Amino acid sequence: MVDQIAAGEVVERPANVVKELVENAIDAGATRIEILLREGGARRIEIRDNGQGILEEDLLLAVRSHATSKLREPGDLEAVASLGFRGEALASIASVSRLEIVSLPPGQKDAAGLKVDFGRVDGPRAAAGSPGTRIVVEDLFAQLPARLKFLKRASTELSHCTAWVERLALAHEGVGFRLEHEGRQLLEIAADADLDARCASVYGSGLAGRMLPIERESGPLSLCGRIGPPESARRDARRVDLFLNGRWVRDPRLLRAVREGVREFVPIGHYPTLCLALAIPPDRVDVNVHPQKTEVRFRDERLVFGAVLRALQETLASSRWSTRSLGPIGGGDAPSPGGLGTSARSSFPGSLPSTRPGSGSAFPSGSGGADFVRESAPDPDAAPRLPLQSGPETQVVGPVLAVANTFLVREVQGGMEIIDQHALHERVNLEELRRELQQGKVVAQPLLVPSLVDVGRAELDLLVRRAEVFTQLGVEIEAFGETTVAIRTVPARLTRLVPEKLVRDLLAIAEENKTATADRIAEEALHSMACRGAVMAGDRLDADALEGLLKRGAGLPQDRTCAHGRPVRVFLTLEDLEKAFYRRV
Ligand code: ADP
Ligand code: MG
Repeated sequence: MVDQIAAGEVVERPANVVKELVENAIDAGATRIEILLREGGARRIEIRDNGQGILEEDLLLAVRSHATSKLREPGDLEAVASLGFRGEALASIASVSRLEIVSLPPGQKDAAGLKVDFGRVDGPRAAAGSPGTRIVVEDLFAQLPARLKFLKRASTELSHCTAWVERLALAHEGVGFRLEHEGRQLLEIAADADLDARCASVYGSGLAGRMLPIERESGPLSLCGRIGPPESARRDARRVDLFLNGRWVRDPRLLRAVREGVREFVPIGHYPTLCLALAIPPDRVDVNVHPQKTEVRFRDERLVFGAVLRALQETLASSRWSTRSLGPIGGGDAPSPGGLGTSARSSFPGSLPSTRPGSGSAFPSGSGGADFVRESAPDPDAAPRLPLQSGPETQVVGPVLAVANTFLVREVQGGMEIIDQHALHERVNLEELRRELQQGKVVAQPLLVPSLVDVGRAELDLLVRRAEVFTQLGVEIEAFGETTVAIRTVPARLTRLVPEKLVRDLLAIAEENKTATADRIAEEALHSMACRGAVMAGDRLDADALEGLLKRGAGLPQDRTCAHGRPVRVFLTLEDLEKAFYRRV
């Protein structure tokens, strides 16, 4: 079994110690865990729990490498149900710090203690203690200058420690947590706090109050969690907490499923605020991949990724965020108690975004036909932040004005609205095509003269193999000789589609999704065609076209973002305008 378990570094910084010790307390069945830190944990970490404790005669074993009480026979490794199982943590920590354990298993008369000073064992001997276990780790790396050098400022180390306590607290209902730094309490969660209460402590009550529940069953898999509104999205995944059977995991493919699942709701390249717990029978996952155990392998990957993706899509699609109502830009979130909400709060726009006059446009200025290029290689910094909060249904008050043949500006109740004409058209196309597809088939428009496009042999083969899906989408493609395809129809709504480009796009999609299902191909193709068939930034629209576009846009089920996740509309409230002109502070 020792050989099966790849040895590895467990301890790099105080946060790893906190994580390992708190996990041990959870494995020991504790319902209350206290974490007391000094100097970001580098000077001192103390963890107290009320769990089952360690018998005096087991103390020495507990700090021995590869000694664990959590696996009893080789087969146990196939279905790990505890957080720990390597038996490495205490041994590693004891070799790089001054460690003290005092434990009193409930029901025993006397507590016993053990000290290990940078690997030198002292004890076990009788000690004074209350039921449960208390572990103190002092002077981490003090005798290892090379390691010490890599520790960051106390505030940085503290934020890593805090992140782990928050994650574990989110994932373990039934366990109470208290975190204290230099005598100041940073987090307090009662054992009976439910997930909403836990989210409020971790994300701040303002954000937590706007998070939506996710509850799904999918075969052997169950999903439960909360997702924050689009405006709480951020460019990094720091607010994405995924748990697998109580264990926090960071799996690149799972993160991709998350990005896919939210892609029509948050700007491109952004991640939502999300905590999502996956529960799956332990024998269907392999957690023995990484020493720090944040990577896992699923026996049935498609099932898991598909379930995550669908859970997010379905939750978001039925949310009020998918309606066309938008709220004002700006406004901060209420500060959260205990000073812990900073990371959550900083994800909110605290003031007007870069659409503020004078700060330069967040959008590159329109030049005809450039949209597609820009969207396939978006500059994440160019993406504007989304307006905060959903507001009442938009009521149009004034006429529309096109600025730079790109932005449509008009007065609406409570302020003004700016629409990106390309983004709106793209979204309109997407929704309309999707509806047609759901009703059976996209309405096709035969071309007077079929368009012939030259492709390679392999490419032709690829296209023809997917011809059925493309036909459903209103694009009839067939082989016309060995290296030429003929396009006979295009979707009737997309009169702007250029057959040559269409073929290239479909080819790229077929190539990237060689093994994908037809549904997947259809979805990708819909996105691509919706964009290609839309007016571009810089295209002049006459009054009729403008009106037609706005009318089609008014009845959309979701028009918050274009198919690429860029905003369709930005709403400035009167208050925002007053602020911009210093009429209001
Ligand atoms: P692992 O958690 O992988 O078993 P550790 O080195 O973290 O390895 O811990 C070694 C053993 O010490 C555990 O298997 C457990 O029996 C015991 N132990 C550690 N911490 C606690 C605790 N807080 N309460 C009870 N037992 C503990
Ligand atoms: Mg452990």
